[in-house]
Amino acid sequence: MNRVVLITGASRGIGSAITFAFAKEKDTVIINYRSSEERALEVKNKIEEMGNSSMIVKADISNEDEVREMVKKVVDTYGKIDVLVNNAGIAIDTLVEDKTVIDFERTLKVNLIGAFLCARECKKYMNEGSSIINITSTNGIDTYYPYSLDYDASKAGLISLTHNLAVEYSPNVRVNAVAPGWVNTEMIKELDEEYIKEECEKILVRRFAEPEEIANVVVFLASPQAKYINNEVIRVDGGIL
Ligand code: NAP
Repeated sequence: MNRVVLITGASRGIGSAITFAFAKEKDTVIINYRSSEERALEVKNKIEEMGNSSMIVKADISNEDEVREMVKKVVDTYGKIDVLVNNAGIAIDTLVEDKTVIDFERTLKVNLIGAFLCARECKKYMNEGSSIINITSTNGIDTYYPYSLDYDASKAGLISLTHNLAVEYSPNVRVNAVAPGWVNTEMIKELDEEYIKEECEKILVRRFAEPEEIANVVVFLASPQAKYINNEVIRVDGGIL
């Protein structure tokens, strides 16, 4: 569709799946990453094999200057931003009694403040029909995991941010969120087999999602077919009980 789509945290997992899904739509994709340069380059190479235009931009989204610089690079090259997907996120799992202020602040800075900074900077270059999609989690709604209570708080905050930005940026820019349940990515690689089995028992489709199953919903939300969907949080969790 020839849109310019910026995806944060696009070097792997859900972010790279979202990037490939937009590339299939013939959009120009901007691959943001923080440290995994090789992985980001692999994504870019695959996108080029698909015949698409793409760009990789290194930026820590929790750093205001780096976000400004990233958005400037995109706009200097392409002149606009049509879609922002706030996907980058971290989870630091620790026992509640061991949870440090440093961990808590880092999680909020990346997952919540980072998303805000990207939205604020991108909005300056968005036109009518643009959209922002925030990747939150069912942990921000009603599935809880005390080892990552800081993560869960950041994702609840991201839902609140979604609603406020939807109000502020209407009617030109739609703002929605996607709330996945468990997804098979490196973020959950520490979970043991027994725990995964127990969790699958609580999911009506009896398995974790694949990243592409989240990406499909993101692409739909950004499409003209979804132009009457705004200020919404869509669960993609296989029916978690
Ligand atoms: P992942 O495999 O750990 O990938 C995270 C991505 O975020 C990487 O590309 C990483 O890039 C990037 N990133 C982390 N911190 C960053 C920062 N400060 N600035 C820029 N990029 C940064 O995670 P995932 O499972 O694909 O998760 C993607 C999103 O979905 C996250 O927001 C996560 O909370 C959410 N989610 C995941 C699940 C799940 O079960 N996996 C469930 C619900 C929601 P570098 O490697 O370069 O640092």
